[in-house]
Amino acid sequence: MLTVTEALALVQEQAKPIAPRRLHLSEAAGLVLAEDVASDVDSPPHDKAMMDGYAVDSSDIAPVRQVIEEIAAGVVPRLAITSGTAARIMTGAPMPAGADTVIPVEQTEMLENGCVQLGGCNPRQGQNVLPRAASVRAGDIVVREGALIRPVEIGILAEVGRAIVAVRPRPRVAVLSTGNELVQIAERPGPGQIRNSNGSLLVAVAGAAGAEPVDLGIARDEIGELRDGVRRGLAADVFVLSGGVSAGKFDFVPQVLSEAGVRQVFHKVALRPGRPLWFGVWTDSNERTLVFGLPGNPVSSFVCFELFVRPAIAGLAGRGFAGNATMVVSLQHAYDHAGGRAACLPGRISTSEGTNGQTIEILSWGGSADMAALTRANALVQLPAEPMRLPAGTPVTALMI
Ligand code: AMP
Ligand code: MG
Repeated sequence: MLTVTEALALVQEQAKPIAPRRLHLSEAAGLVLAEDVASDVDSPPHDKAMMDGYAVDSSDIAPVRQVIEEIAAGVVPRLAITSGTAARIMTGAPMPAGADTVIPVEQTEMLENGCVQLGGCNPRQGQNVLPRAASVRAGDIVVREGALIRPVEIGILAEVGRAIVAVRPRPRVAVLSTGNELVQIAERPGPGQIRNSNGSLLVAVAGAAGAEPVDLGIARDEIGELRDGVRRGLAADVFVLSGGVSAGKFDFVPQVLSEAGVRQVFHKVALRPGRPLWFGVWTDSNERTLVFGLPGNPVSSFVCFELFVRPAIAGLAGRGFAGNATMVVSLQHAYDHAGGRAACLPGRISTSEGTNGQTIEILSWGGSADMAALTRANALVQLPAEPMRLPAGTPVTALMI
């Protein structure tokens, strides 16, 4: 059976960035830029007043100046400053010719006769003025291809007029829940039935991972219904199925996927929970879909999503093949790890009184169907396949959830 590392490498090989698309800037936050963007303007576009005050020539020593003009932001000054004159200027306005300094209004006093008294201040050249192009020169690259577009990148892209940008779009992730026992979440399950909690869980976690989720609902464990669901799922960039990939008599998912032309890359990973994981790729001219058959138990589904699907989404989105952040934290208590397979266990990181820094507790849980235990966790503790006795204080790797 493949190790988690081997399986991840096989997923990574397939998770290359999807084709760029041109989107409005308002839709680009959180995506990766797919072009170098150059500025079409100098910024600021003119020598700019950075305070409300008086624009003056710093080499002029006259304590009282004639105010010759009032310059608001958005207007162009008409008059040049000469010896003995000043212009009232507002923040953001262009500096008039002949002026190199703004004296803040608080340091001045307006006189009756249209003059201003510059109360004993000693203006420095360039004070409170941002020179033209000090931030960006026209033609400068302001954001490079491959950069993650955070709010600050949105700000500069807007400043340089990029209403439309080429980005790696959010991967579309289709979610199909399989199982005869499943009913809609708004229904009360009858005897032998359970609600389709995985559908909601996977749609939510796909959205949180930066994808655009599409919920395909429930398919019965029946070839015809599965075929129909698979046909719809293959229209997405990533197709996530839950259930039907184990060794049960009605686990038809691998068969139906193969028949639909999805090439199996691997089936089963040495991981607990999550062993039945199935992964394959569907290709058709220039369309491609990465297909994940996740085990039906909710905790297994979630663990496989975090370990394999989340990094794949990041890879497709151009963010590099990466999952959530990990932390090395020391174990609060001793733990006996049975080994055999790598383990991913619900853990809770906390800062306990009197300790220096954070520690992690491995939570008691009822196995891979115990979703409630995961709600008490804030991390997954990752342990290797080797059996080991971990004394309290052992540093362990925690994947943040
Ligand atoms: P399977 O992988 O189909 O063998 O399912 C394993 C376990 O997960 C069974 O107990 C199922 O009832 C449960 N299960 C399967 N699909 C879902 C789902 N969509 N939501 C919640 N539990 C599920
Ligand atoms: Mg099933």
